[in-house]
Amino acid sequence: MKQLIGVDLGGTSLRAARMDTGGHILQHHSVATAATAGPEAVAAQIVALVEQVMGDISRSDIQGVGIGSPGPLDPFEGVVFRAPNLKGWVDVPLRAMLEKGIGLPVVLGNDGNAAALGEWHMGSGKGCRDFIYIGLGTGIGGGIITNGQLLLGRKGAGGEVGHIQIEGSGPVCACGQVGCWEAFASGINFARWATETLQSQPESALYAQAIAGKVTPADIFAAAVQGDAPALDCVRREGEYIGRGLVSLLHLFSPERIALGGGVMAGAALLEPHVRRVIETQAMEPFRDVEIVYAHHGEHAGVIGAAALLLS
Ligand SMILES: [Zn+2]
Repeated sequence: MKQLIGVDLGGTSLRAARMDTGGHILQHHSVATAATAGPEAVAAQIVALVEQVMGDISRSDIQGVGIGSPGPLDPFEGVVFRAPNLKGWVDVPLRAMLEKGIGLPVVLGNDGNAAALGEWHMGSGKGCRDFIYIGLGTGIGGGIITNGQLLLGRKGAGGEVGHIQIEGSGPVCACGQVGCWEAFASGINFARWATETLQSQPESALYAQAIAGKVTPADIFAAAVQGDAPALDCVRREGEYIGRGLVSLLHLFSPERIALGGGVMAGAALLEPHVRRVIETQAMEPFRDVEIVYAHHGEHAGVIGAAALLLS
C-alpha cells in the first residue's frame, strides 16, 4: 500500500505528516504559518514541508497529498475562497499552485470534513456506513458520512453543522446569523456565556475569575469536578446545547455512530449524561440508541484527516 501525506493548514501553524493508510505517523514536521505573507509564501512553505516529511521515500510510493484547510473552499476545483486567519487569501487556486511544486496529486478539503474522514477511515468511525463527526473547538466543525460517502453538496459546501439553528435568538454567530449551534456550544462561546453567568454567582469558586473575564472550559470542568454548583450548572447547560444540535443531526441523517472531538471534549465524562438525557427526551424513539463515542485522533487529528481526504 502506498503511503499518504496530510497537511493541516491553520492560521497559526502548518503541520505535515507522512503516514501509512492506517493513520500511523511515520514522519512529521510543523512550522509557524506565514499568515501575513500571502498565498504564494504559504504554498512555498507547504511544498518545503512535504519535501521534509517525504524524507528519502520515492514519489512513486506516495499516493498523494491531502490538504485540510479552513473554509469556505471548493474541494472540486481546489480553490480556497477565503481563509479568515490568512491575509490576502481570496479565491486562491491552492491545489493547482501546489501540484506544480510537489509533483504529486493534491486533494483539498475543509478541515471539518477532513477530520470526519480521518475518524471514519482510521479511527472511531471505522466500519460504519452512516457516521457523523463533530469537532467542538473554537467553532463547531464536522462532517457527515451518509450511505458510505462524505456529504459534500453543491460546491462541496454542505455539512456546515455548526450553523444549524438551535435557538430563535441569541448572540450573533461568526456567520452573521443568530441562534447557531456554534454560537452556543463551541469552546469560545461556552467560555463566553459561562463567564457572563458566573459573574452573578459569588458562591462559585470561579466568581473572581469570571469578574476578571477569564473563565475557560477547562476551569469550569475543574470546578465542576470539585462539586462547584454554578460550574456544574454551566456543564449541564453546555451538555444540553450539544445534545440539541445532535438531535437535529440524528433526525436528518440517522447515523449509526456519532464521534465527538475537539477541546470541549476534555470534559466528556461530565457532559455525557446531559447530552444523553437530551437525546433520550428530545429525539424520536428509534433514534435514541445511537452510539456516541469520542474521537480517536487527538494531537494529530488535523494531519490524519487531511491525509484521509485521499481515501474518500
Ligand atoms: Zn452561524
